[in-house]
Amino acid sequence: MNPINLFEQVNRNFDKAASYLPYSKGLLQQIKICNSVYHMTFPVKRDDGSIETIEAWRAEHSHHKLPVKGGIRYSPTVDENDVMAFAALMTYKCAIVDVPFGGAKGGVRIDRNKYSRSELERITRRYTYELIRKDFIGPGIDVPAPDYGTGPQEMAWIVDTYSMVNKNQLDSIACVTGKPISQGGVRGRVEATGRGVFFGLRTACEDADDMKKFGMRAGLDGKRVVVQGLGNVGYHAAKFLQEGGALVVGLAEYEGAIQNPKGLDVDAVFKHRTDTKSILNYPKGTNLPTSYAALELDCDILVPAALENQITEQNVNHIKAKIIGEGANGPTTSGASESFWKRGVMLIPDTFLNAGGVTVSYFEWLKDISHVRFGRVGKRFDEASHTRILRAVEEMTGKRLDEAKLKDVILGADEEALVNSGLEETMAKAYTDIRGIQRDHNDQMDLRTASFIDAIQKVAVAYEELGIFP
Ligand code: GLU
Repeated sequence: MNPINLFEQVNRNFDKAASYLPYSKGLLQQIKICNSVYHMTFPVKRDDGSIETIEAWRAEHSHHKLPVKGGIRYSPTVDENDVMAFAALMTYKCAIVDVPFGGAKGGVRIDRNKYSRSELERITRRYTYELIRKDFIGPGIDVPAPDYGTGPQEMAWIVDTYSMVNKNQLDSIACVTGKPISQGGVRGRVEATGRGVFFGLRTACEDADDMKKFGMRAGLDGKRVVVQGLGNVGYHAAKFLQEGGALVVGLAEYEGAIQNPKGLDVDAVFKHRTDTKSILNYPKGTNLPTSYAALELDCDILVPAALENQITEQNVNHIKAKIIGEGANGPTTSGASESFWKRGVMLIPDTFLNAGGVTVSYFEWLKDISHVRFGRVGKRFDEASHTRILRAVEEMTGKRLDEAKLKDVILGADEEALVNSGLEETMAKAYTDIRGIQRDHNDQMDLRTASFIDAIQKVAVAYEELGIFP
């Protein structure tokens, strides 16, 4: 269905990185291939009584660590090659942010706008049954999550279906992540991918030497940003970037795009789109005819956070941004990535930049298997010890802190604070790792290649230490 073979694109990036590494052909082949793909078709009853056949997939790319992990997308164009490619990206993504899972991805070929809520529920529950039947789901086997076209509601149906079948399984709630809080979800998961994009870009922009190469100052402050996609990833990325001091000068959706060199208010644009069903005609912006036109706007950072293959050899040379932050999976073809590299454009790859989602999914899974909310046990104790320390300082100095400030200082961390700080640490460390690999190679490779080197090395260790490959 997809005109560009996405798995081939991913593998081209893999091969480029592999050429720097000492591993045997056999080991590299084992890392690269997709271990198993389950292709299914099943009937679903529409509300009018007619029956429709739905086509769907689940691909498990690498079992070097279990469970395997990755979202489920509902899209009219998804195909087997796509899910294999996205599953592979999940393997590499998890490795880069040190999430101890293999990679997987699911796809259901539907346009969700053409189905009622109850039809979507029947499709989701039936898809889950199919996964259960073939052991393609389970807290220690394969743990799906939201992706393009799915969200907390679908995850709630999945956990409910799974738990009905696995009645006495203590950890059944950990069979899927991205659930509503009441169903075992974790605070901060919805915003996680967008927040991770923000943390990743902020870390990259903090490097004064790197920014100097573009004639820019360190930090996000005042940097002009364009975001393509106002879905869960794009909206949150744009919002956090704005809150972090960047100026959002362009926003794009599939119906068109808007710009304002003086800055757009992300929440106001989001509300305008919800109210009018279109991003166009926002009172404090100028319309652009297509989503693609926004990609070519004059800006410092471009964040494609919609779909794959948005930046190709056709439009890459029209793009003016100095930094590309891949919020979506596979938004830039490998040919276009090479053009960016030759032009000195800094591309921050999807394998790192959008890994915030799976990072917080990992936290959710940990919460579910431990059956306790983060912060529940320690919060009060921490607040009591902070108070004791403060009182001792007050005694020594003879000064007292006023009550309002006191609350701020002694505050123990709750679930949301812990999740967000774990995500911040993860993204900052992973960036330092991949930028370090790039430096070790005298900056003679792009960050995507460096990120693949990091991922391949980590997966290779798992196989080597298993003693399968010499
Ligand atoms: N679908 C998201 C991704 O592509 C999240 C996957 C997950 O949380 O397992 O990274």
